[in-house]
Amino acid sequence: VQPAASARPLRILALANQKGGVGKTTTAINLGTALAAIGEQVLVIDLDPQGNASTGLGIDRRARRVSTYEVMAGEATLAQAVVPTAVPRLSIAASTMDLLGLELEMAQSPDRAHRLRNVLKGLADAPETAGFSYVLIDCPPSLNLLTINALVAADAVMVPLQCEFFALEGLSQLLRTVEQVRAALNPKLTIQGVVLTMFDPRNNLSNQVVADVRSFMGEKVYETMIPRNVRISEAPSHGKPALLYDLKCAGSQAYLRLASEVIQREGRVPAPAAA
Ligand code: ADP
Ligand code: MG
Repeated sequence: VQPAASARPLRILALANQKGGVGKTTTAINLGTALAAIGEQVLVIDLDPQGNASTGLGIDRRARRVSTYEVMAGEATLAQAVVPTAVPRLSIAASTMDLLGLELEMAQSPDRAHRLRNVLKGLADAPETAGFSYVLIDCPPSLNLLTINALVAADAVMVPLQCEFFALEGLSQLLRTVEQVRAALNPKLTIQGVVLTMFDPRNNLSNQVVADVRSFMGEKVYETMIPRNVRISEAPSHGKPALLYDLKCAGSQAYLRLASEVIQREGRVPAPAAA
């Protein structure tokens, strides 16, 4: 039986927040895994020189011979960089520290903000990349040229926000940047949604932050909140998404609910039979 994957529309989501440690990478890995588990064909693009998404998905540094650096630098095709993970239907284009130098190398290039968009335009042209239905771009913790490339390439931005005191600080700046990119470079760009991460229901502050973010961002905030969960933070050191490390833990279950909510919000029909 031929999979009907290529028939599904492609959605490109950028996971962005210039703050570090808010759950971008964790969400790229685990939302990616959850979407794959419910039948989507998912590609994670690691655009952070730290390469945490690549490590967390079990891609050994030595296995990153072709990385997002070569792809963005025009030295390799995306198809050459895409590698499968232990999760069926989930692939990744890994990153290396080489990405750190890319910004400077691209600075004078007229297409510097459009590199990733141009790369993703060719997705359908290679058999290795043609079937993806979701691309999740894991951005670095900065509003630098790499993040701008993600915003220019994406259909929508997903913003992970940590439920802590300074959560809203910086959000306005991120929203301004999204607005500028939409006005100048990518008119179709929307805010996909805000995902509250590391939520602790026993913590009054956590509850207060949730209330503040919901009143500021309204409908854009996902119902599903990702709880603070030790299994989620342990999983990357095993090179596994939380959903493979401990499917039953509260964190994995939350990411599964988030994946359903994402699909529902986009008005997508669920993928046929996730084998
Ligand atoms: P970012 O990519 O935004 O810098 P990460 O996803 O790397 O953030 O998360 C920062 C740290 O917090 C990591 O050590 C990660 O394992 C941990 N973490 C993320 N989400 C959770 C969670 N829901 N519960 C517990 N720890 C988490
Ligand atoms: Mg990260």
